[in-house]
Amino acid sequence: MKMTRILPALAAVAAGLLLVLAAAAYLWRSDAAQPFMIATANPYATEAGASILRAGGSAADAAIAVQAVLSLVEPESSGLAGGAFMMHFDQASGAVEAYDGRETAPMGATPALFLDEEGKPLPFLEAMIGGSSVGTPGVMKMLWLAHEEHGRLEWAELFKPAIRLAEEGFAVPPKLAQAIARDPVLMNMPVAQDYFYRMDASGERVPAAEGDVLKNPAYAATLKRIASEGWRGFYEGPVAEAIVETVRNAPMRPGTLSLEDFASYEAKKREAICAPYRQYRVCTMPPPTSGGLTALQILGILQNYDLKGMGPMTLTSVHFIAEAEKLAYADRDKYIGDPDFVDVPVEAMLDPAYLEARANEIDASLSMKKAKAGNLEDRRAMNRGLNHPVDKPSTSHFSILDSDGNAVSMTTSVEGPFGSHLMAAGMMLNNQLTDFSFVPEEDGKPAANAVAPGKRPRSSMTPVIVFNEDGNFHAVIGSPGGSRIIGYVTQTLIALIDWDMDMKGAIGLPRFVDRNGPLEIEAGTPLEQMTPDLEALGHEVKAVPLMSGLHGILVTPEGLDGGADPRRDGNVITGER
Ligand code: GLU
Repeated sequence: MKMTRILPALAAVAAGLLLVLAAAAYLWRSDAAQPFMIATANPYATEAGASILRAGGSAADAAIAVQAVLSLVEPESSGLAGGAFMMHFDQASGAVEAYDGRETAPMGATPALFLDEEGKPLPFLEAMIGGSSVGTPGVMKMLWLAHEEHGRLEWAELFKPAIRLAEEGFAVPPKLAQAIARDPVLMNMPVAQDYFYRMDASGERVPAAEGDVLKNPAYAATLKRIASEGWRGFYEGPVAEAIVETVRNAPMRPGTLSLEDFASYEAKKREAICAPYRQYRVCTMPPPTSGGLTALQILGILQNYDLKGMGPMTLTSVHFIAEAEKLAYADRDKYIGDPDFVDVPVEAMLDPAYLEARANEIDASLSMKKAKAGNLEDRRAMNRGLNHPVDKPSTSHFSILDSDGNAVSMTTSVEGPFGSHLMAAGMMLNNQLTDFSFVPEEDGKPAANAVAPGKRPRSSMTPVIVFNEDGNFHAVIGSPGGSRIIGYVTQTLIALIDWDMDMKGAIGLPRFVDRNGPLEIEAGTPLEQMTPDLEALGHEVKAVPLMSGLHGILVTPEGLDGGADPRRDGNVITGER
């Protein structure tokens, strides 16, 4: 046979073989059970998500079921009348997508929203409680969008676990019980006082205790409407009307939220920001959260140092991480706001040459104490926004990997514990607008994060998905914790990547974070013994409770490894399908 005949024949055989192999791979894929894993802050929510994954639902489907349950069993942290950011990885296409369900300021909001008559910023608690802190909720529309693109089960199916729990009741989890008992105002708030408290024999209100059974028929009715009408069931009709009514007639600081704000709300898809760290690629959420950008800056600065060589949680590694955090938090306060309203110089902030120059500002033997924002190529006049010095048991993060390899990393929030403390249609209404800068300008320069109608307040939420050097899914992680979120997530990524820890080990590490102020270390942990040495390096050390609330999943050679933060109530469920 001549070569000209042999080659096509060989090619045909090869093509045939490839087809057979592809078919075998397909059959193997559809026959062999593949693992899934889910980690959330509450066992009811984890089980709801797992039940969806067992039934063949996608990671996005499970996320919807989880959020619907969290709104019920962890109302102090997140809910359908709040906002969220979700990173999604689609295994088949390789796409990494960033969904923005952040609340917006009502069209009636002004830059002076949180100033008193004399133009001074209001005390935080005063600004938080009542109607004027409530933003147009975003999480529901975001979940609808994600379901349109990545849902597999029927929308209505996803609400069944939450409807059942709301109707039949759930046992009050430890964290909710503590949050109610600790709250200074909840007992005096309409609706909430009747839901979270009961009357004892002497007519005194007593907070619901751990294990008490709570039923929420109003929430069940809301869920049924959403289940049958889709996003319209929330943004139009009785649910939206009840929220608007509650905000406008709030006993303190009534707000301007209107049905038009609901009608014009849009969840957005944004371009994920990804950057290399060591041999991995870290993908996260772009602004309006400052979380992703600031975390990537910290990693980009630390990339210039050998954290592995320094060793896990040694004096040197804590010092370098704290200093890198100072530098990145300083940039954060100056440059980040809603990108639909202010230009955020994302590329300049992540430029490796810039980050190397920032790394060079770190002195191994002395803390810089207070970092200044860097001089970017791309200079914009922006001032600082507002940091919250109080640690709050609010916000929730969950991580999901379905058996097809799709992943969700979602951080979700009503902002402070119990949000605005207003309750409508069975849900706590957020106080997310207090994430805006209370002071709209400084020395005549507008703050990047000043209030404006329709604008999204700057967040710190940092949902992350990590890929390995072959581009395969490696890990998913995120945390609550207000502006400390960024430090919590970054420290955990360093533990996983530089210090080769497993997920539980990384999540369990004593926390520390430096938001360009004092170096906060977790009280009651071995880090306290490091205080004199840290002080000798010039750090002002403060031991405080650091709640975190990290929930993550890691791929290891032995299989999936999940972790739920021992500081919260959560758990991990794994299974196969
Ligand atoms: N509202 C905060 C944010 O969006 C989160 C609050 C918290 O984690 O407690 O960044």
